[in-house]
Amino acid sequence: MPRGKPPPPQQAIHSRLSFLHQASSLLSTSPTTAGLSRYYTSHLLSVSKKSVQRLSTPVKHTLCKRCSSILVPAITSTTTIENKSKNGRKRWADVVVVECRYCGKTKRFPTVDREEVKAKKEKKTITTTTTTSTTTANATTTTMREEVDGDAAMTGT
Ligand SMILES: [Zn+2]
Repeated sequence: MPRGKPPPPQQAIHSRLSFLHQASSLLSTSPTTAGLSRYYTSHLLSVSKKSVQRLSTPVKHTLCKRCSSILVPAITSTTTIENKSKNGRKRWADVVVVECRYCGKTKRFPTVDREEVKAKKEKKTITTTTTTSTTTANATTTTMREEVDGDAAMTGT
């Protein structure tokens, strides 16, 4: 019996996707092979779609949706930080804008991590529930209901 982790269920497809991404990344650095790189990327996207294998978020962030070229900073893409708040006062409004140099399509990513913000919100709600639980049990149940309603409103259900 082999030792170590068992292979993922679709090992062959995973390896193929990995190879296509690596090959495309390598070929994108030279202007003579940029076309082949884009071909590999579009092949990568079609294989992931047909096999119903989701690409990881970091991989998706390096692909241009319009022309399927790999977005390598300073080589095939231009990265800038934009803040549209009044005089750039709100630091959390910083947005990373990645522009594809081939087709001009832009991608925007918030610099503030959403998971981090969620964790902070959860911490706040936990502290509020602990303070209300010391007063009465009824107050705690009402705050819990409010939280559930708030979550339902955020998901749109
Ligand atoms: Zn593009």
